Amino acid sequence: MKTLIKNGTVVDPSSQLHQKLNVLLEGDKVAALTHEEPEADRCIDAAGKIVAPGFIDIHMHEDFVGPDGHLEQDEKKSIFNCMLRMGVTTILGGECGINRYDPMKYLDLVDRDGAPVNVALLVGHAFLREAVGHKDKYSHVTDKELHQMAALCEKALTAGCFGVSYGIRYVPGIDERELMATAQKCVPAHKLLAAHVRDDAAAIFDAGHEFLGVAEKLGLPAQFSHIGSMAAFGQMEEFLQMIEAYRKRNVDVLCDCYPYYAFSTAIGSTTYDPGWLERYHCDYDVIQYCEGKYLGKRGTRETFEEERRDHPEHLTVCYVMKENEVDMALASPLVMVGSDGIMNHGQGHPRAAGTFPRVFREFVRQGKLSLDEAVRKMTAMPAERMGLPHKGTLREGADADVVIFNAETIADRATFEEPTLAGCGIDYVLIGGNIAAKDCHVVNGHLGRALRKY
Ligand SMILES: [Zn+2]
Repeated sequence: MKTLIKNGTVVDPSSQLHQKLNVLLEGDKVAALTHEEPEADRCIDAAGKIVAPGFIDIHMHEDFVGPDGHLEQDEKKSIFNCMLRMGVTTILGGECGINRYDPMKYLDLVDRDGAPVNVALLVGHAFLREAVGHKDKYSHVTDKELHQMAALCEKALTAGCFGVSYGIRYVPGIDERELMATAQKCVPAHKLLAAHVRDDAAAIFDAGHEFLGVAEKLGLPAQFSHIGSMAAFGQMEEFLQMIEAYRKRNVDVLCDCYPYYAFSTAIGSTTYDPGWLERYHCDYDVIQYCEGKYLGKRGTRETFEEERRDHPEHLTVCYVMKENEVDMALASPLVMVGSDGIMNHGQGHPRAAGTFPRVFREFVRQGKLSLDEAVRKMTAMPAERMGLPHKGTLREGADADVVIFNAETIADRATFEEPTLAGCGIDYVLIGGNIAAKDCHVVNGHLGRALRKY
């Protein structure tokens, strides 16, 4: 099957390309970028539109696996569908230490059924802890448990996971010995370490040194997760300088950030352990409930205590970040776009369905980022980070994952009230040369494949 995408403007930062060109896809590869009009079985007219590599979300939380052994099938509840509709063709899941399911089995499941997007996974540290039966997140693991965790970590990496993720914030009992014993399994294949670090706001610096110290000792690449929600409380400028200082010492550290000024987490998480009001200099009303009987309502001391006690799993949104510091992060050359999208049964933060189009609406059209730089942060940069030479690019021979959008109208519409609402202005999303989404609607939700790294 040959598809010709004609008359569009190709924006491919991996080749510093911003030019009117026709793109020929043959099978699941890019066959040519050309001024000619080669014969094709199908033609997509992209006049007036941008033709870019499919977006890569380097930080998101994958769909659950249902009791029937399948990925979430309900289009309204599937975060992978939200991803696809906003132009994402490849995701990296298993972030913040969390796997929704055994990552090895998850990849097999994607092999069997396909998925709305291509799926790559990290093995989550909390998954390893749970797998060996260590339930108390505040206590240290035993030597025996750690030995078992390290062995399982190695197994998951050998099976194709892209690296290890940590949610140190969520598992305060983790210590350096536990970090090192698991992280060092990434050394042989030089895989990625990603972390939601131990603390945020004024404590971000110590938390950052803890994680980056491990990456430095082991000589591994480090991805600092969702820095907006970690350091946009008055620390961002100094924090980015700290990242730069590590890079000068040859530590390969980069960051991701989502373009919102509020974060999201479960109400029972350690983020809301005593002291959080003082840490963020705020009151209970910065919280908005995403689930349960207070859905949509702002927090009060009474409802906070009730929900934390009765429904610790319920997601909340917390409005505490400084806008100019989130903007500063996204403008930094050290930072790529990552949604940190997370969805529980269709509820959650709108970043799951809005992140990528929102960057164009809020940042590119407002003059905070150039179009090419925004696309680079969504394609070439994460692809290089993940070691995917055939993705995030439209070079000849690349995987035929493509997004076609209108730079003037692309926009997010998901809100905190309606977090899964599709955006607009994205005409086509192609995965492996086939049409996966058209006009922000899913056409084929099974074109995504499992990606493995060895
Ligand atoms: Zn996180």
